[in-house]
Amino acid sequence: MRPPHILLVEDEVHIAQGLVFNLELENYRVTHVDTGAAAMQAFAATAFDLVILDLMLPDSHGLDLCRQMRKQAPQLPILILTALGEEKDRVKGLQEGADDYLNKPFNLDEFLLRVRGMLRRSKWYRPEADLSEPYLFGNNRVDLDNLKAKTRQGEITLTELEARMLATFFATEGQTLRRGDLLEQVWGLSSDTETRSLDNFIVRLRKYFEEDPSQPQHFLTVRGRGYRFVQKPGA
Ligand code: CA
Repeated sequence: MRPPHILLVEDEVHIAQGLVFNLELENYRVTHVDTGAAAMQAFAATAFDLVILDLMLPDSHGLDLCRQMRKQAPQLPILILTALGEEKDRVKGLQEGADDYLNKPFNLDEFLLRVRGMLRRSKWYRPEADLSEPYLFGNNRVDLDNLKAKTRQGEITLTELEARMLATFFATEGQTLRRGDLLEQVWGLSSDTETRSLDNFIVRLRKYFEEDPSQPQHFLTVRGRGYRFVQKPGA
């Protein structure tokens, strides 16, 4: 199996050297660049498995790179590195399609954990065969590859998070997923994190895909435990 190939965009030499060294110790292949121009050049030439993106670069802002990369590769995991005081950028980064962020200075173990988690999730999110085909349930047709779905409301465009959540449900059809597992799998958050966003998300999926969102047939609550997705109710 080929090792995951990571694009590291970071202009601070010492940080970059440390990250390259440690990522390579973990057997990842790393391409390191220190400008936005070089990043986009590398990005155009190579299909990376993960991008690690510093925000403050000498020739560009990481958010612009994030937006461009996201447009061309909707499913590519992007990890943003932010310095303290860039809180607003962090939120914007998530809106621009970044999947996760780390504040500098960060703990190396946590960094490596995030990288591993993101690569694992993206593999799960892009399974070899069946989820690349449109997935059918109820009167819905979900095309995860193109982030499109046909529902009773017509065609909708899915966000990355929605798609990741659906991929998780489809891959575990019929099984109860604990809330903590869903949070970790979809958001990469530890299970003791605030879970209200998860519940809001389920409400949103029911609105999209259930005939009667107040009587869900597909996205079921398992009281006290979590959620379960059922493709064919009553089957
Ligand atoms: Ca920088």
